[in-house]
Amino acid sequence: MERNEIEISRLAYDLVVCGGGPAGIAAAVAAATTGCKTLLVERYSRLGGMGTNGLVNQFKVPENPPAVKSLFASVKGHENDSEFLDLAYADLVIAHGVTLLLHATVFDVITETIEHRKTVRGVRIATPSGPMDVIADRLVDATGDGIVAFLAGAAFDMGRENDGLMQPTTIMFRVSGVAHERSMEANGGRANYKFPEGSWNHVTMAARERGELPWNIGMVRTYMANRESDRYINATQTNYIDATNGFDLTRAELEGRRQIPVVMDFLRRYAPGYEDAHVARVADTVGVRETRRFRGLVCLTREDCLSGRRWPDAVVTGCRAPLDVHNPAGPGQAEGVSESHPSGKDPRPEPYDIPYRCLVPENTDGLLLAGRCISGDHAAHASYRMQNICMATGAAAGFAAAASIRQGVQPRCLEVSIVQAKLGIESTPGNARLQPGRNAKDTFNENQNNYC
Ligand SMILES: Cc1cc2nc3c(=O)[nH]c(=O)nc-3n(C[C@H](O)[C@H](O)[C@H](O)COP(=O)(O)OP(=O)(O)OC[C@H]3O[C@@H](n4cnc5c(N)ncnc54)[C@H](O)[C@@H]3O)c2cc1C
Repeated sequence: MERNEIEISRLAYDLVVCGGGPAGIAAAVAAATTGCKTLLVERYSRLGGMGTNGLVNQFKVPENPPAVKSLFASVKGHENDSEFLDLAYADLVIAHGVTLLLHATVFDVITETIEHRKTVRGVRIATPSGPMDVIADRLVDATGDGIVAFLAGAAFDMGRENDGLMQPTTIMFRVSGVAHERSMEANGGRANYKFPEGSWNHVTMAARERGELPWNIGMVRTYMANRESDRYINATQTNYIDATNGFDLTRAELEGRRQIPVVMDFLRRYAPGYEDAHVARVADTVGVRETRRFRGLVCLTREDCLSGRRWPDAVVTGCRAPLDVHNPAGPGQAEGVSESHPSGKDPRPEPYDIPYRCLVPENTDGLLLAGRCISGDHAAHASYRMQNICMATGAAAGFAAAASIRQGVQPRCLEVSIVQAKLGIESTPGNARLQPGRNAKDTFNENQNNYC
């Protein structure tokens, strides 16, 4: 058969969820529970996103909101299982009737201008049989980098507000052969290394100053795996990377992998219990913390997180993750460096909400955002990028997409209380504190959504 005889296949779904990470899985399952015909498209061979392909399986299935907890009940217990977490996710999406398509990369969008607004109507995907068009009533962009929103021309920001620098990338790896008892005993009963009592970061920084670690490694984090003898190591670091640029990503892959033997030598020398440890597995892909943050109907800010801001259109509540900004320009964390914390200390938020409007791109219809690409500033992103929170924004986006199809309204016109009811979040517009945020449009009419 000749190349030009191959017809581009066309598929049609109610909803296409792009990206099979924590956010995309949640979005697809949530929508499917309401009877929405849903396709989940993932470029790699496994579901789980950073949590599996990046070996970042340190998370807890969220307890909150209630609907998200129950959606992910079957995944509980697999959180630290780098071999089978992806299968637990696949079983979950298939059990809910989601059609799963792996090895399928979104490379273009199909758009229409409706009532002077850019509206996403589908995506073009690269599959082993060639390109394929998938048409849908709604799309959820859960690709981490927000490739669908980007290709559709949605407005976005990247990096710190002052210089555009983003958090460094990391190649995670897993070690075996740790003497569990010895390591726990030396470390006050913890697998996450702080030995001895808080001085681990001093040991790390001193080794760095002696040239035993690369210039930009100021923290070596060790996490428990699903076997006592094993740990996941979060330590390698490449700075000044724009992970939306393929050449930068190539440098990040190589530089990070080259650092692994150096970190391993450091652990064997200084971490009791690691003397005979060895590298058992290296992540399939570099870990990317930060890329595009799309401009939504509101922008969640650092102040919103630190003050525990409540929103009338909250679709995620009780977010507690620290503002975990890995230093974009050097070792350790970006904030809180002191004598007692030579690698920095993250600011801790009051439990805060994420409003629905952070999931709605300000200038694009037919599309919802989920996961780490939602609307927020650099510091807020460093908290809501955690997997449990990404799952929660994913579930909200999935329920919202399905409801907006059913009601025949664009996501920006949706009555948010419908989504809140699905999530098990009490709708409290009257009680919410209405504070101005970064966006000029940051007011919320309780009876009528102003953005339709
Ligand atoms: C080194 C590191 C350590 C971290 N530590 C923690 C931690 O301890 N705890 C925690 O909770 N979080 C942690 N995180 C953060 C967390 O892993 C991510 O922020 C989270 O996974 C983001 O979820 P997501 O679903 O938005 O995106 P992702 O997990 O990135 O998933 C996006 C999915 O979309 C797919 N995709 C991308 N482009 C396309 C395309 N064009 N076509 C089709 N599919 C596509 C990707 O392959 C991927 O599967 C860490 C991150 C890193 C990098």
